[in-house]
Amino acid sequence: MRAVIYTRVSTEMQTEGYSLDAQLNACRNLAQGRGWDVVKVYSDEGVSAKTTNRPQFQALLRDARAGLFDVVIVHKLDRLSRSVADVLTTLQNLEKMGVAFVSATEQFDFTTPIGKVMLTLLAAFAQWYLDNLSTETAKGKKARAQAGLWNSAVPFGYRVHYKKDGGDGLAYPDEKDAEGVRRAFELYATGQYSDYDIAAWLNQAGYRPNGRGKRALRLFSKDTVTDMLQNRFYLGEVCYKGTWYEGLHEAIISEELFNLVQEVRRKRRKDTSLRARKDAQVYILSGVARCARCGGKMRGRNAKGVRYYRDPARDRMVNCTQSIVRADEAEDALGDYMRTLRLPQDWRDQIIELLQTETDRAEEVKRERAALSRQLERLKDLYLLGDVSLDDYKARKRQLEKQLTGLTPPVMPNLEKAAAMLDNFGNLWDAATPAERKEIVRALLKAVYLDSGEAGPIIAIEPRPEYAALFEFFRSDIEPVPVAPASSKTAS
Ligand SMILES: [Zn+2]
Repeated sequence: MRAVIYTRVSTEMQTEGYSLDAQLNACRNLAQGRGWDVVKVYSDEGVSAKTTNRPQFQALLRDARAGLFDVVIVHKLDRLSRSVADVLTTLQNLEKMGVAFVSATEQFDFTTPIGKVMLTLLAAFAQWYLDNLSTETAKGKKARAQAGLWNSAVPFGYRVHYKKDGGDGLAYPDEKDAEGVRRAFELYATGQYSDYDIAAWLNQAGYRPNGRGKRALRLFSKDTVTDMLQNRFYLGEVCYKGTWYEGLHEAIISEELFNLVQEVRRKRRKDTSLRARKDAQVYILSGVARCARCGGKMRGRNAKGVRYYRDPARDRMVNCTQSIVRADEAEDALGDYMRTLRLPQDWRDQIIELLQTETDRAEEVKRERAALSRQLERLKDLYLLGDVSLDDYKARKRQLEKQLTGLTPPVMPNLEKAAAMLDNFGNLWDAATPAERKEIVRALLKAVYLDSGEAGPIIAIEPRPEYAALFEFFRSDIEPVPVAPASSKTAS
């Protein structure tokens, strides 16, 4: 393999021990350990990651396109760029050019098939992160709602008359589907049917949810019906972050029927079983919910029957402006995201195949490490017997040790498990009980950053360590409010 090294140092980094030499050494050791030839070193000095003008980096990309090497080694991923989007674009571009990528200090390696799969996953997570970070979008959504227009997809029962098809861009009741909506409300209003029953009825009657792109659900689920029967869109209203505005579209459900359905739901809720009540107390994000401002763990709390995630910062004498976050809103937002995760059908088979490859590589690394250790032993014997001089011994020992450190066994994330969950995530998520959802969240995510502000309820999602390396430096983009111990504590 022909490898190249990319290094970048800004002036302040030199003093922090991230010197050019240190970066170079780490990269060279890795190359040596893998048996790669370093054919070129690209180095941008005194340059910040924010600058797009990085001549050597541009040269690297040009050479990659020309096929002059097979793999890029960096000391740390953040050498590439501090922007999530930039890093991912760069990595994906390199991949397209058939150039692999590896970080010398992070458990992050795109030279392996598993690494390539991880890139896909990371891109999905990062996209979500970017989507949520754009408060500009949020502002636009609010303006739309105030103008009587909906955000995201119109619910089942409506069709948009798109301008490109000669329409006016507004939503209109779809004759057939609107009938299904009315029937669903009427059935529920009798008090004899659960959300689940109505989902089954809709599916059986041949109705299908509005399908659009990645989020399309194939069938109605209990949850989609729960949402549907409480959606004020059917009353001709539009919503932005819990506030309903007068919409420009026609209502298909009367206020009277709508209210009756809500009344029935309240009654049903009252006689729900103990198990269901227990379910309502499950905090799906418990253990992973974190304050987006101070990074502290947020805890589930019930206040007068409403579930919240609360930042106990003040209890810990930490100043934080975070207020409480509604648990149902945060969990719904996560659910929306989970439903967007979809991977190719044959993913699971691929994963099993890839895991086999990785297992083989792990075995190979183990064998190579054992061989190197034996060589070290033998070298020591030779030295003790006086067959090798001290200088020779030291030099060869150093070389062998370098090779050993370069030979790190691959990380083995439980991708098979993740894949099994991911390949049909929407259905899995919808079918799961709150307790099961909690399990899913814990299996995949390390932290979910919540915020009570405009950009919330979810600001960012941090995957489990298997996927986390790339995200290490993303968190700095959140710009947490500086946290200082409360004065009462420092005074004592
Ligand atoms: Zn906080």
